[in-house]
Amino acid sequence: MDFINLKGQYQAYREEIDREIRDVLSSQRFILGEKGKRLEEELAAFVGSRYAISVASGTDALILSLRTLGVSPGDEIITTPFTFIATAESAVLAGATPVFCDVEEDTFLIDPEKIEERITDRTRGIIVVDLFGCPADYERVRAIAKKHDLFILQDGAQSFGAMRGGRKSPSMGDMGITSFFPAKPLGCFGDGGMIFTDCESHARMAEALRNHGQTSRYVHTYMGQNSRLDEIQAAVLLVKGRHFEEEITTRQEKASFYSKNLPEGIICQRVPEGVVPTYAQYSILVNDREGFSNFLSKRNIPTAVHYPVPIHLQKSFGYLGYGPGEFPVSEQISNRIVSLPFSPFMSVEDQERVISALHSYRGKD
Ligand SMILES: *Cc1c(COP(=O)(O)O)cnc(C)c1O
Repeated sequence: MDFINLKGQYQAYREEIDREIRDVLSSQRFILGEKGKRLEEELAAFVGSRYAISVASGTDALILSLRTLGVSPGDEIITTPFTFIATAESAVLAGATPVFCDVEEDTFLIDPEKIEERITDRTRGIIVVDLFGCPADYERVRAIAKKHDLFILQDGAQSFGAMRGGRKSPSMGDMGITSFFPAKPLGCFGDGGMIFTDCESHARMAEALRNHGQTSRYVHTYMGQNSRLDEIQAAVLLVKGRHFEEEITTRQEKASFYSKNLPEGIICQRVPEGVVPTYAQYSILVNDREGFSNFLSKRNIPTAVHYPVPIHLQKSFGYLGYGPGEFPVSEQISNRIVSLPFSPFMSVEDQERVISALHSYRGKD
């Protein structure tokens, strides 16, 4: 069984996708063309944001958003250490210093109780991560951000299309991003990402920055970079986008099938009341992760670990001077987290096989 059944998804949409890609090949227009434009319009409407700007990856979307928000050297950006490396890396690449804030034990998301103690007079904003597709507590984070005049950048790389408080991800902050990396809920056939905002001047700035800071042909107003989504990726996303809402529903059904059938004692991410997550991963906490993964692997069930080392303990972030014990919740979760095979195209039989393996594992525990 595949960890994510992308082959099944391609089989299901193959004719549509191949047709859209052939369209691009016939046009021989590969960069900043019609399909990218249409994709931006469709996804802006889907999310409920006024503007969408397609870029080359989720990481670039974060960096360009931070630059658009005016982040500069000396600034501090608060985020969690229990996330994919790109969240904190983007703050560094935008010239700022990431300042970590621990997560909640049950949601694995930023702990609003702990944000204020991390704020200094250099803090500019908060990157809120919707880990595994579950939007964080934006209501409380927004109140803190407002009080201290900070921006919120929503890292919706895993939560595209998720709902909280009547808003769709990633439209819950001042700016929001998503990633179209193939394994994300809405993935393309390579790298890709998108920036969302309601602010016209932010949209114009991000649009210029992704294209060498150009505001009109060969007029380079800002120091930009090359970060454009190509037309082939846009073609794939136009097709997958048409089926996305249906896939989110399937994701929820499959996630609740797991949750209802988990053996007692196995803990999954707590989904707060009224939140509709996208389940980028279905992750659980186990005590002996190695033993657990080996047990499943012997039954040909793949698992993955998102993420084994919290960012403050990664070598590349050693210069910040954090040590073990500083973010105990993130460290504990990193030691125990494991993701089960999951995707909208996972078969019922495969899911039942995973559940039955979980039960026989518990029997031995
Ligand atoms: C995947 C991911 C990113 C980066 O996206 P890329 O498209 O791979 O650059 C950023 N943040 C989170 C939380 C992610 O999961």
